[in-house]
Amino acid sequence: MDIQANLKKVLSDLPPHVKLVAVSKTKPVEMIQTAYNVGQRDFGENKAQDMAAKYPLLPQDIRWHFIGHLQTNKVKYIAPFVSLIHAADSLKILKEINKQAIKNNRVIDCLFEFHIAAEESKFGLNPENAESILQSEEYKQLKNIRICGVMGMATYTDDKEQIHREFHHLHNIFDMLKGKYFKEAAYFKEISMGMSGDYPIAIEEGATMVRVGSKIFGARY
Ligand SMILES: *Cc1c(COP(=O)(O)O)cnc(C)c1O
Repeated sequence: MDIQANLKKVLSDLPPHVKLVAVSKTKPVEMIQTAYNVGQRDFGENKAQDMAAKYPLLPQDIRWHFIGHLQTNKVKYIAPFVSLIHAADSLKILKEINKQAIKNNRVIDCLFEFHIAAEESKFGLNPENAESILQSEEYKQLKNIRICGVMGMATYTDDKEQIHREFHHLHNIFDMLKGKYFKEAAYFKEISMGMSGDYPIAIEEGATMVRVGSKIFGARY
């Protein structure tokens, strides 16, 4: 497993405006340090306790991305330091993130997760859900969170056309929200899509961030 060579390969596939989140979930801190040593600063985890355990053991200029489903009772573990929460999918979780952000005297950046795959999933919004959140009075009171864009996962399939369609759909949702709710908000600019198997397609469809794990750190067991 040559993490540094893998990282270089993935980075060479990315245009300069696309940020790489190296997904280090289940992997030890030594592997993260190896990637850090060649300049990688953005890492993704999907379990709050794992992220909170790794955080103090690694350099403080790492930007930690929370990419999994976040339960309300876990927000407190990551609120002091998390850089971006990719998968906000309810008003309830936004309210808890806001509450913990206030406690830590900061603003926490979030993305709305959308359900774009054909596969069944308990997680992810549809555009109507997102609009009703954005229009609610409760949302408008949340001063310590900032919605910076959208995130989604395509169907796990070999059908490239389908993956293109799903990522294209996410880009359309981004454009709709930008036009209707975030026109003046320069921070609303992120489209987080693409993983080891499909990030080249995501880039073609306008991803600004890709989340790549196994192609850098090896398969997870
Ligand atoms: C695990 C995970 C990834 C990375 O997956 P790989 O296929 O290993 O690149 C990306 N996004 C999310 C939300 C994940 O849970």
